[in-house]
Amino acid sequence: MTLHAPYDPSNIFAKILRGEIPAVKVWEDDQVLAFMDAFPQGEGHVLVISKVSTARNLLEVEPDTLATLAAAAQRTASAVVKALSPDGFSIMQFNGEAGGQTVFHLHFHIIPRWSDRPLKGHGSGGMADMDELKVTAAKIRAAL
Ligand code: AMP
Repeated sequence: MTLHAPYDPSNIFAKILRGEIPAVKVWEDDQVLAFMDAFPQGEGHVLVISKVSTARNLLEVEPDTLATLAAAAQRTASAVVKALSPDGFSIMQFNGEAGGQTVFHLHFHIIPRWSDRPLKGHGSGGMADMDELKVTAAKIRAAL
């Protein structure tokens, strides 16, 4: 999928937003949703998406939405750090297939990092156990 293509409303995050497929939610408001990555690169990997924008990537997003997403990513990262006490964290955001993007609804990855734990591959870490994700999501939510 190139950088320049129409928004596909059948992408997996659009389906999550419409409630057509399940997601382990961390928190949401009327603008954003933060939920657990189902194929996490490590414990506590959270995704933040806009509920209102159909921007596929960073180039397309409206500045106001970008500001809202950045604040949501900061709020989420703060809770992740409080809940899981990592040594650091990575914010990742991929654009276009060649840029590593696999779901074409703009999103930010928040991935806690521990010095002694290698990061799993992007999209190749295997599917997480949903019950474990729910436990982690509850811990992060409690730290918001
Ligand atoms: P990207 O490759 O940057 O587009 O990131 C897409 C992310 O969505 C990957 O990290 C996937 O593991 C994650 N993902 C794919 N399907 C789902 C799903 N159904 N629920 C939660 N996360 C998903």
